[in-house]
Amino acid sequence: MANIINGKAISSEIRKEIKEATEQFYQDHGFRPGLAVIIVGDDPASRVYVRNKRLACEEVGFYSKAYELPAETTQEELNTLVDRLNGDPSIHGILCQLPLPRHLDEKEVLLRIDPRKDVDAFHPVNVGKIMIGDYDFLPCTPAGVMELLTRSGIEIAGKECVVVGRSNIVGKPQAMLLLHANGTVTVCHSRTKNLAEVCRRADILVAAIGKADFFTADMVKEGAIVIDVGMNRRADGKLTGDVDFASVSEKASYITPVPGGVGPMTITMLMKNTLTAAKRSVQA
Ligand code: NDP
Repeated sequence: MANIINGKAISSEIRKEIKEATEQFYQDHGFRPGLAVIIVGDDPASRVYVRNKRLACEEVGFYSKAYELPAETTQEELNTLVDRLNGDPSIHGILCQLPLPRHLDEKEVLLRIDPRKDVDAFHPVNVGKIMIGDYDFLPCTPAGVMELLTRSGIEIAGKECVVVGRSNIVGKPQAMLLLHANGTVTVCHSRTKNLAEVCRRADILVAAIGKADFFTADMVKEGAIVIDVGMNRRADGKLTGDVDFASVSEKASYITPVPGGVGPMTITMLMKNTLTAAKRSVQA
């Protein structure tokens, strides 16, 4: 049976560290790191995420402000708000909750956020910095995966790492971070031939495709480290990952569960990025 990587416990350890660093920051500078979250419309899932982000800010001692805008908000109104937050010295991180209603241009908003306040690391400037390995912020989910690996004492250098999924928010930056950590990285996607065979080469397998229980034991090497980023709802409403936990956990040496693995790390990494942005603002 694999060692279970406890994302909840690791996340709470990191939040404690952030809280301590925040108190120190407050003593040194007399203000708190500030995060602004913008949400447009009333998508229930987005509202839950926004609420969780607010609670996380409270937990670590940040100042936070939520802007809950009506669904009929215009692009111009949204742009004006972003401009205002870009210039607000009490705000160090700006996050626009996606998806936006269809009449709004997500790309335009993401490009408008000052890269120094782009705590989601979606701005092309930050994406480029990640590519060259000289970054301030990392996208939250892949950064969370790296923390889970390193805090579990897992060496990445020299390992065969297979990332399945190539989205801009998970797969691609994940591959880049594993590469920076000296892994030998292969990225797979829906057109990959012989996927099972490629996955079986992996010492570290990162599953991020959004298909419930897709990765079965026959796709995993004995003793592999398996990170399950997937978050899928079963018909009965239960949350499940991309990995068939029951069979794969018999074969892997380490595995992340869903829920309680990668999920709790994402907001924690957002807090870490906001603290970094605040620290950067006093250095500038
Ligand atoms: P996307 O839908 O943007 O990307 C999915 C990727 O998986 C694509 O690159 C796609 O390939 C690939 N893919 C789909 N089907 C297959 C297949 N059968 N074989 C091989 N590759 C396949 O998803 P995201 O990256 O945004 O998210 C992935 C999963 O991670 C989702 O379950 C999501 O809910 C979860 N997630 C979890 C987070 C967390 O906090 N734990 C945060 C963000 C996401 P192609 O490019 O060829 O289409």
